[in-house]
Amino acid sequence: MITLIDKLMHNDKYSAEATSAGKYRDILDGQHPDITLVTCSDSRVIEKALDDEIGKIFSIKNIGNRVEPNLGSIEYGIGHLHTPILMIMGHTGCGAVHASTLELKDEHHRIIKSLDFIKPTVAEVQKLLIRRGGLSQYIKESKTKPLTPISEQVYFETLVTEANVDKQIDNLLNDASIRNLVYSGKMMIVGAIYDFKDIYSTSKGSVSIININGETDVEKLKKLDVFAGNSTIVLNRVKRLLVY
Ligand SMILES: [Zn+2]
Repeated sequence: MITLIDKLMHNDKYSAEATSAGKYRDILDGQHPDITLVTCSDSRVIEKALDDEIGKIFSIKNIGNRVEPNLGSIEYGIGHLHTPILMIMGHTGCGAVHASTLELKDEHHRIIKSLDFIKPTVAEVQKLLIRRGGLSQYIKESKTKPLTPISEQVYFETLVTEANVDKQIDNLLNDASIRNLVYSGKMMIVGAIYDFKDIYSTSKGSVSIININGETDVEKLKKLDVFAGNSTIVLNRVKRLLVY
């Protein structure tokens, strides 16, 4: 059984190594992160996938990577720490998204309340699919295919995961001060999906880009300056299943 003692022994080893390697040396007097990251609390989603260095990611986690409950933390990251990137990162296999697609009568009321933020997005994706002739038809016509065969339910949840990221970014862009940071070029809002289910990439823990500053059109995203000169990144990382 894993006990607190195990964790403290791990911590002994970690802190000894971090001290001898001087890992905190340059950040003793302050933090200068590159990214304010809003992502899911899921223990499989780790910041290390984006940066190994301590102090580079100002991280905010909650179930379903929702913006609303953490606006103060986000404001600290972008307004005080001035991170040039605000990233909203969903992930494949998200339990919060899965739960949002179900009737949750027996769930704890606090969890139901948290998932209420995602439920309207589920309904929006369902409406979009009805307009496109249903999920099977949508999948058939989709240009981007999951790299591993997935069930229709998982496909649907992946669409909701993307829509949930898009929705958080739209909500952020409704705020005038955040819009100013984006339009003045001081900050970029990036929507991403972290994948360990081989849907976007067969490399576990890979991060795909699905939205930049509200732009969700993959062809337009690929042409953005931020990717200029890096065709491998564009080819492998700019992809999404949900097309509006
Ligand atoms: Zn999750």
